[in-house]
Amino acid sequence: MDIASKNVAVITGAAKGIGRAIALKLADDGFDIVINYRNSSGSVEELVGEIESKGRKSIAVQGDVSVFEEAKNIIKQAVDFFGRIDVLVNNAGITRDGLLLRMKEDDFDKVIEVNLKGTFNCIRHVSPIMLKQRKGKIINISSVVGVTGNAGQVNYSAAKAGIIGITKSTARELASRGINANAVAPGFIKTDMTKTLSEKIRENALHSIPLRRFGTVYDVANAVSFLASSNADYITGQVINIDGGMVM
Ligand code: NAD
Repeated sequence: MDIASKNVAVITGAAKGIGRAIALKLADDGFDIVINYRNSSGSVEELVGEIESKGRKSIAVQGDVSVFEEAKNIIKQAVDFFGRIDVLVNNAGITRDGLLLRMKEDDFDKVIEVNLKGTFNCIRHVSPIMLKQRKGKIINISSVVGVTGNAGQVNYSAAKAGIIGITKSTARELASRGINANAVAPGFIKTDMTKTLSEKIRENALHSIPLRRFGTVYDVANAVSFLASSNADYITGQVINIDGGMVM
């Protein structure tokens, strides 16, 4: 079905956490929303309902972004339904932390596959659509540890640093066709991903944040909302840290 849409945003891994907050914020901004999720869960239907109650259209598309053909299908279903994609937010991510000397090969590979290759896969499939439109905004969720590194996260920091490389190369390749690519690098944000960290790690992290609080999903969603808007039309290839001043 190709229905007349205004602006359409696809958000990967949007069932919860930062992705969910981005979906709701972009719906408030007037976007119709494609929610990608990996596993079936009732919370996705609830999210679709919440977006629709804001007067926007929304569909949920299951798919694992780390699999090239599944990423292709996510983008295809979005275009089949809405006819266009104006914004892609590559948010899906996982951690499998461990010290370098003990890290298993599979823990390295999995984190690279989801965070880094998943980002490539979605950009690879959305690019032809945005090129045809001569319009589009790609926003990748990196991390401050992609800039600074972090003990216990060689896999995750490598993936998040790689995302910064993908962002800048994409920005250079596609800028002449009206497509912007930027990244946000969150610091310590309160979600399921950080919930399991020990009290000691949380305490140390708090001391390293000049603004003396952990970030919220809304802090990240607000920055993504700005990058997705026409207010950011002259910004491309940039990485915006959202970290209470952790990295400066
Ligand atoms: P989260 O675990 O709450 O959400 C991650 C989402 O990604 C989940 O919905 C999960 O199902 C989805 N996902 C995982 N693998 C997927 C796959 N293969 N295909 C599709 N979806 C998949 O975590 P979050 O904190 O909301 O993280 C969102 C993004 O922000 C991630 O990229 C994460 O690395 C990044 N980030 C988070 C923090 C933080 O402090 N929470 C800091 C920096 C960056």
